[in-house]
Amino acid sequence: MTAIPRMAKDRCARSAAPRAASRYSIRRNAPALFALLLAVFAALPSRADRPLAPSRDYDLQHSTLRLSFDTAERKVIGDVEHRISMVHDAATKIVFDCAALNVESVTLDGHPAKYEQSGEQLAVLLPAPARSGDGHTIEIRYQGHPRQGLFFILPDKNYPDRPTQIWTQGEAEDTRYYLPTYDYPNDRLTTDTYLTVPAGWETVSNGQLEGKTADANGRITWHWAQHEPVSTYLISVVAGEFDRVEDTRQSPPLSFYAPRGDRERIPVTFGRTRAMLDFFSATFGVPYPWAKYAQVAVNEFTEDGMENTSATTISTRALLHPALAAEQPEGEDDLISHELAHQWFGDLVTCQDWTNLWLNEGFATLAEYIWEEHAYGRDAADFRRWRDARDWLTSERLFAVPIVNSNFTDSMEYAGNIYTKAGLVLSMLQEQMGAAPFYAGLKHYLERYRDQNVVTADLERALEESSAEKLDTFFRQWFFGAGAPQLALRSSYDAAAHAVRLEVRQTQRLEGAVGLFTLPTQVEITTATGAKRFPIVVSKASESFTFPAESAPLMVLFDPGSTLLAGAEFQKPAAEWMYQLRKAAAVPDRADAAAVLAGFEGQPGVLTALSEAARTDPFWGVRSEALYSLARMRATHGRDALLAALDDADPRVTETAATLLAEFPHDAEVAARLEAVSRSGKFYREREAALFALGRLQSPNAYPVLREAAHTESPDDVLRRAAFRGFQELGDARAVPVVLEWAAPGRPLPARSAAIRALGGLDQRNREITKTLLADLSERIVQVRMAALGALDERRDPAAIAPLEALIQRGEFNGDLQHYAQRVLVRLKKGQEQTNLPSPGAEN
Ligand SMILES: [Zn+2]
Repeated sequence: MTAIPRMAKDRCARSAAPRAASRYSIRRNAPALFALLLAVFAALPSRADRPLAPSRDYDLQHSTLRLSFDTAERKVIGDVEHRISMVHDAATKIVFDCAALNVESVTLDGHPAKYEQSGEQLAVLLPAPARSGDGHTIEIRYQGHPRQGLFFILPDKNYPDRPTQIWTQGEAEDTRYYLPTYDYPNDRLTTDTYLTVPAGWETVSNGQLEGKTADANGRITWHWAQHEPVSTYLISVVAGEFDRVEDTRQSPPLSFYAPRGDRERIPVTFGRTRAMLDFFSATFGVPYPWAKYAQVAVNEFTEDGMENTSATTISTRALLHPALAAEQPEGEDDLISHELAHQWFGDLVTCQDWTNLWLNEGFATLAEYIWEEHAYGRDAADFRRWRDARDWLTSERLFAVPIVNSNFTDSMEYAGNIYTKAGLVLSMLQEQMGAAPFYAGLKHYLERYRDQNVVTADLERALEESSAEKLDTFFRQWFFGAGAPQLALRSSYDAAAHAVRLEVRQTQRLEGAVGLFTLPTQVEITTATGAKRFPIVVSKASESFTFPAESAPLMVLFDPGSTLLAGAEFQKPAAEWMYQLRKAAAVPDRADAAAVLAGFEGQPGVLTALSEAARTDPFWGVRSEALYSLARMRATHGRDALLAALDDADPRVTETAATLLAEFPHDAEVAARLEAVSRSGKFYREREAALFALGRLQSPNAYPVLREAAHTESPDDVLRRAAFRGFQELGDARAVPVVLEWAAPGRPLPARSAAIRALGGLDQRNREITKTLLADLSERIVQVRMAALGALDERRDPAAIAPLEALIQRGEFNGDLQHYAQRVLVRLKKGQEQTNLPSPGAEN
């Protein structure tokens, strides 16, 4: 799965851990508030309360599921027939997970059966104690109004043309909200799914479409059949008004769905899927395993993407507008490659329990890296790994917790380990084993455990069997151990001995699951006569290495290319870092130098070196890193480099420059350039960033410029939305009328939710705004409600406390929204307490 907080990769919201590889719907350097708004999802709990697999009394082998829907009532009407085989003697009942569903009848082997419902369980009583191997068929008829697991997206009076959509989200343990079943990954079943829907709708489910039949009422029943066994959290049901595009020229057939009316977004978003699928089939050594591959974009999806077997569901947030696609060079490839790779890692071979969830998510993250390298080059992939490593290394909360974490009760709290760290560690393993043995090992793993559920030891055994290499040290320290090495490095040159001496200390605190690391790596020494590499193995708390060098080195690189997941503080003079910034071959080494040089402000040549890198480095990411360091220094020189970078050819760099110029207040030239960019910049990305920066800078001319942008048409209203974010930063009450106009029901949802969110920062004494926001909460559109909650959170108007509490108590919110609403309420109450406290000295 890929959950929303991929946005947390945004530098501006760096502290938030990716919830699920935080879906990176937001671009890294996008304006901070937008990122923060979205990052509220990051800390929301998600359900996975059983880290280890339960014992089973039976093996669920096949389910025939028939669903129809009463859309107006948001009701699901179901009939499921399960074929099971008992695996234990003496069981007296067959227990299914079943949450908040009204069970109307149950038969056991064709006869009416006794059953009991309590909590989230449906127990079907056996007439006699079971014997292992007994087979049974249980049919359950039921109805329900699911609060989770299955969602209805419907038109309403404000949005009468909104396409109807029904979709499910099973992971972690939510399939039980629309289907009584065995709802834990350690079992697999095949399925027949019959979906009865109005004519004109599309449906998507697992496996291949066997046929469609019409009934007397004109409704159509679609029959999907999944012939290879999958775990229940990977079952998917989607139905509704969609546009469909197909690519059936080759096998497997591909299909792409967007809500009706968004067909034009399909090619620009999903156009590289076939190439990805072929690349993964070749790289993993196992052809794509399922009958078809469908990707369905749905509104209000709770994740960024979900790898349902052969039928991935993706958020419409990922659908690119054709007019904006050109300035997003890699589009949504990270999300699309992530979910596609899960079709092997996660779906074909599935984690047995949530403790081993990294076996799904780590490989999906690795797949993002290798696709990026294949499609966009080594530099792009190296840079992303470097950035992800830096994000992870600064997430202290994650450090003490191993990737294989049998204690967790919340699948997403440690997502940064299960996704990012696991992906980086697998990259390291590939580096250490060598690509050919590594991928041969993965092929063996996929073939040996095909259609099975696995734990970490299974992967280790498969890689060892395939490569004849012992990997226990690597697995122990990286998957079962916690943390990462923190290295203190220092090199010196002995002219008499013609030798470079490198001292290496591991400074991570050794406690709990964090130990010393054994690190095979290389040292590269560059002298006037060229570069030489020396392999070493670091394993002690403190040790030193000596290498021959005819003359004093110009540059010493430990682990050139940053292949290790390790924090390193290498004490080098500024001159050597500047040499590294100019000359190092690998992007991570130049990016390191660009970042470190921010700490050498005032030393001769540093500003010039960074400015030069910002202008001339061949890779956009290094140019961007140089800009970050220059902005941190706030020197005039840095400002000039940022202004010059507005002319860069790469939209990612110009966007960074415009964003960072918000660090230079009271500067008429900066404000004037930002104004010009906001009106006529060559990329929308930089225009958005400039609008945000103008608001943030409180520049004297910000209000009229933002107001103009709020009235400017642009694809997906990107400029209008940016203007609203700018208004929110600016806090100028003159903006209230135009923001309220766009916050009104019926306005296009992206612009409307940006406007609602902006109200959080405007005219704090205006009680009418609080009333508007409370009214928004009664609408059933998630993004409207999220924006209103965010704005109420920012305003802290105590008048919102009672109405919000009433909405929560009436059960108006579901799932994530409920948790968020509760958190906002707590903060509103806390704010009120603080206001009511006597101020210090009041007693006098
Ligand atoms: Zn995933």
